[in-house]
Amino acid sequence: MNADRVDIIIRGAGLAGTSLMLALVEQGYTGKILVVDKLPKPDTQKTWCFWGDQNLPDSMRALIAKRWLTWSFSSDDEEFEHKTSSFDESYCCIKAEDFYQYALSKLTKTSNIEWHWNTDCEQIDSDDTACEEGVAIMLNGKRVSADLGFDSAGQCTAPDAALNKVPNKAPNTSIINQYFSGAWVTSASPIFDSNSAALMKNMVADNHCFEFTYILPFNAHSALIELTRFSTRQESLSDMQSACEQIIADGKYGTNIGNETTIERWEKGVLPMDTRIKPVKVGNWESIGVRGNMIRASSGYAFMIIQRWAKYAAAVICNNAIQRENSGAKDTHRQQIVFTKSAVPSLYTKLDSVFLKVMRTDMARAPQLFSAMAQHIEAGAFARFMSESASFKDMLAMINAMPKRPFLRALITPEH
Ligand SMILES: Cc1cc2nc3c(=O)[nH]c(=O)nc-3n(C[C@H](O)[C@H](O)[C@H](O)COP(=O)(O)OP(=O)(O)OC[C@H]3O[C@@H](n4cnc5c(N)ncnc54)[C@H](O)[C@@H]3O)c2cc1C
Repeated sequence: MNADRVDIIIRGAGLAGTSLMLALVEQGYTGKILVVDKLPKPDTQKTWCFWGDQNLPDSMRALIAKRWLTWSFSSDDEEFEHKTSSFDESYCCIKAEDFYQYALSKLTKTSNIEWHWNTDCEQIDSDDTACEEGVAIMLNGKRVSADLGFDSAGQCTAPDAALNKVPNKAPNTSIINQYFSGAWVTSASPIFDSNSAALMKNMVADNHCFEFTYILPFNAHSALIELTRFSTRQESLSDMQSACEQIIADGKYGTNIGNETTIERWEKGVLPMDTRIKPVKVGNWESIGVRGNMIRASSGYAFMIIQRWAKYAAAVICNNAIQRENSGAKDTHRQQIVFTKSAVPSLYTKLDSVFLKVMRTDMARAPQLFSAMAQHIEAGAFARFMSESASFKDMLAMINAMPKRPFLRALITPEH
């Protein structure tokens, strides 16, 4: 291709960029796409979990490495279990390595996509001077422009950076970030119960930090054991890695690192948990993925939100291309495409905003909130709520499960 004008530029070939390309190819898009990523190859040190696979295309459904029909929550003195018999409500996991292998095998065969790995391109748009032709980048000293640009490169994670995006914030406003450090553990003996995932094990909290362990047992011999913190403090991922090693070494979950258990690799990350953070907007670029707030603020789940948005955006782009072709438009002017649907439905953003406000005000209460949710909501309603497909009845059950006073207080007190 090697052109100086293409139809679409995608900056960042991570989950959002790749999912958009897959959806475009699936829907028969033939326009020219240029994709750049600063990494030499996709980052495969991730697993993506989500509830229910009904919105996935069949080809992607085949990538599900494991489904759990049971998941649990526990604190010092209580344990709650959710059980479902429906695959539509099951907790599913796709490994990033399988996703990218599938995506690359499909997309690199497509002649209208040009890939540039190892490329940290400079955007030449700026906030106030949007590029007339749409978007443009400098690539190996050459300027390439496009009608449409999608940018998933980088995300708001550092508390300071995130806080700067909060309009009219008070000086000491805190935000919650989710920090996690997880070990892929294998064991010679069959020590894991692969039927049940622990979503939140050993929940504990102080005024600034809510901590729990997330365990995904893939079979009796291997599991992901991840220490997670929702925290208004700056946490250190290397300290969390040591703490996670200690949890494993203590043999708390039937594991014993010194004996027959081995840590194969680590996955870690930091995700912002705040509905007040606005998506980064530069020129005509559409921010996508975590950069575009395509993430549930209260949980950090983004996989299915990104899949649904990619399908919707690809349909809008394909329809626009068909209309232009039918109308015989051959001009080089930018296509005015407006994506009207927000990735996370606004009702969930509103509910998440109140929930997070309660957590910011009284983090020590978090184990109680999640225990109440686990205890009073049945598995199906919980799965639907977590995947933005709750019925009115599910919503009411969720609201009813929560303690009234802190939520009412959060509703009536202004943000500070
Ligand atoms: C370890 C981990 C586990 C997660 N697990 C789950 C889960 O179980 N379920 C769930 O729903 N969500 C999960 N998430 C949240 C979310 O799904 C992921 O963060 C997801 O990868 C977000 O997609 P993205 O495209 O926004 O970002 P990414 O997938 O990170 O893609 C961004 C891409 O941009 C590239 N890039 C960055 N800067 C530049 C630059 N200057 N120039 C060019 N390219 C650049 C990066 O190399 C990267 O490839 C997890 C996140 C992490 C970090």
